Amino acid sequence: MPTPDVSVVGSGPNGLAAAVTLARAGLDVEVHEAADTPGGGLRTTTLFDSDTIHDLCSAVHPMAAASRFFREFDLSTRGVHLRTPDTSYAHPLDNAPTAVAYRDLDRTCDRLGPDGAHWRSLMTPLVRHSGDLCDLLLADQRHLPAAPRAALPLPTRVLTHGTRLGRHAFRDPAAPALLAGVAAHTVGRLPSLTGAAVALLLGHLAHTTGWPLVEGGSARITDALLDDLRAHGGTLHTGSRVTDLRQLAASRAVLLDLAPAGVLDIAGPSLPAGYRRSLERFRYGAAAAKVDFLVSDPVPWSDPDTRGAGTVHLGGDQHEVWDIETMTARGRHVARPFTLLSEPLTIDPTRGRPDRRPVWSYCHVPHGDTRDPVDRVRRQIERFAPGFSDTIIAARGVPAAALAAYNPNYVGGDIGAGAMTPWQAIFRPAPRWDPYRTPLSGVYLCSSATPPGPGVHGMCGYHAASRVLRHEFGIDQPPALGPN
Ligand SMILES: Cc1cc2nc3c(=O)[nH]c(=O)nc-3n(C[C@H](O)[C@H](O)[C@H](O)COP(=O)(O)OP(=O)(O)OC[C@H]3O[C@@H](n4cnc5c(N)ncnc54)[C@H](O)[C@@H]3O)c2cc1C
Repeated sequence: MPTPDVSVVGSGPNGLAAAVTLARAGLDVEVHEAADTPGGGLRTTTLFDSDTIHDLCSAVHPMAAASRFFREFDLSTRGVHLRTPDTSYAHPLDNAPTAVAYRDLDRTCDRLGPDGAHWRSLMTPLVRHSGDLCDLLLADQRHLPAAPRAALPLPTRVLTHGTRLGRHAFRDPAAPALLAGVAAHTVGRLPSLTGAAVALLLGHLAHTTGWPLVEGGSARITDALLDDLRAHGGTLHTGSRVTDLRQLAASRAVLLDLAPAGVLDIAGPSLPAGYRRSLERFRYGAAAAKVDFLVSDPVPWSDPDTRGAGTVHLGGDQHEVWDIETMTARGRHVARPFTLLSEPLTIDPTRGRPDRRPVWSYCHVPHGDTRDPVDRVRRQIERFAPGFSDTIIAARGVPAAALAAYNPNYVGGDIGAGAMTPWQAIFRPAPRWDPYRTPLSGVYLCSSATPPGPGVHGMCGYHAASRVLRHEFGIDQPPALGPN
């Protein structure tokens, strides 16, 4: 068999973004995927019956709609339809109407009443410079921003909403709950500076490109990436777990879509001691535990305004979300964990039937938690949607510890491939000028354990591939990514 120019280990969105970029530059690229199906965090399947399809990991794609890699790759012209709900996300509250982030900023502000003006002033500069802001926050964190004006609104906002100062920013509970729910996507202690940065990134996207789901399921993105890879001569090997880096020694470059633990597993003894110690010290964060339901009816939300939301955050008001996220990050079990939920059929009719509906959810739990999450998630949904339990036909829980078995990148169930602390947001996975390049000749990291971190945006893969092109093949300009 001919030796490929480049071997990529792992076919998550970052591995495939890297593979596509390199194949388009004319290189011979081979991807090895341990699982029998490609996609990593972008996989969709039937679970309970043949009519209903479930996203196994990611389901909601604000970053795939907005990141530079996917903007240029242009999912829509490749037949991947992003279905963007009018209600980006909703956050039910116990004794108040649901907090709602509509795609329409004016409508959101109107609903926030006395806090509407402040929400508008918080979001407007971000919305106005959305493209530049996404490029900045999804950058390699090593270069000055190409459009510095996009950065200007960030410091005061991050400081205010990433600390307890943020408690005094609004009068009513709705706006703080909206921000806390989005900050909780960092799966860590709150408030935090990284939580605020993520809240501003995802929060403003709710009012721009929106928080879409993919028609037919998240795996359609994987399919489009693989189609493009193959069209440019690349190959994928599934069921091909790499156990030793030396298996790939013949390739000129190797990209690892792996968490640091995976890198240590396959390359540990050959790594220089300092770098190996950095990877061993890398901190993993709190975890996720997944629950898929098959239900007979739409979720019976107490507040009908919750219906139709692409994503629902369940965790009570800002104080409660901050408390439960902080306790979970410290390894403590909470009775009512922060839970994310989506009802794909309300947005995408291809996902099931009116009487057999998928509900996608996951909750945050301590690192390595082995408990079945179904009952806790069911009760958290029931809290805001009484009668939900009566609609359940079937449920499947995946404890955090089992998530790691499903995908080795989810160490202890940490779906971010490493805690998003302020330090690790920039210096992931090790304090180096080039976070993608390892000390081993020709070996690079491209997973979400590198900047800009977790999520389906493809940018870790794109940044790593750009380095490989420059350093290993002397190609300074990454190729165009659009359909051709
Ligand atoms: C339950 C859940 C819900 C999520 N929801 C969202 C969401 O709604 N929106 C969003 O943007 N993000 C979401 N995410 C996060 C998102 O899925 C990840 O951030 C993203 O998939 C990371 O991409 P990656 O390419 O870095 O790694 P991964 O997607 O983890 O892919 C890594 C791949 O490498 C393979 N691999 C590992 N070791 C080896 C080896 N030794 N040899 C060969 N192959 C190997 C794995 O099998 C896997 O396929 C969610 C994640 C989970 C688990």
